[in-house]
Amino acid sequence: MNDALMNELALLREFGYTHLDVSGQRAADSGQEDQRALLAEMAAVANACQKCKLAKTRTNVVYGVGSPNADLMFIGEAPGRDEDLKGEPFVGRAGQLLTDIIKAMKLTRDDVYIANIIKCRPPENRNPEPDEIEECRPFIRRQIEIIQPKVIVTLGRIALQSLMERDYAISGARGQWLDFHGIKVMPTYHPAYLLRTPSAKKDVWADMKKVMAELSSASAETIEP
Ligand code: SF4
Repeated sequence: MNDALMNELALLREFGYTHLDVSGQRAADSGQEDQRALLAEMAAVANACQKCKLAKTRTNVVYGVGSPNADLMFIGEAPGRDEDLKGEPFVGRAGQLLTDIIKAMKLTRDDVYIANIIKCRPPENRNPEPDEIEECRPFIRRQIEIIQPKVIVTLGRIALQSLMERDYAISGARGQWLDFHGIKVMPTYHPAYLLRTPSAKKDVWADMKKVMAELSSASAETIEP
């Protein structure tokens, strides 16, 4: 087990969570129900989390939704007002656009997994601050570890930079494959940006075509003897 994971485990134990099996092998070997249970356990930890100042202003913790063994995971920045009220990521206007993108990929929200880097809403939808991103990081890392998607799509600059821990410019990184611990990452624009800049939709669609091609080639490899 690497140092980063050990640190995350220590942090989760600080939350009072003592029954965590994160050998890495358990999630790999478990079926969908075990993955669902692991995600539910972690959601319960997040629901009680007071690790950063966003705990004081949130209505609901927005942990994540979707298939516990999804091949495709979308990661955004942080909940907005609608998400905070409902406790579900991407449910406002930008969320509807993300749902439309997923449908255009011939998938449903239940086929994929959707989460944010930050689990609680920053007041007035301001950008998350570095300390908040660091405190919340164990949750997204653990979600990725449990779900083990084949492809991660990051939505917008902050999700990209926070996940990869590098100062990428979204305009330069968009559409280029990156690697996150062996998982392919496709950076693209945030749906909220597309609402303001509809001309960028074609770029996002070009990125999603690359994602579909990658998923289809990964499934063909799985089927082959
Ligand atoms: S944003 Fe993350 S670290 Fe901060 S209180 Fe919410 S769950 Fe905890």
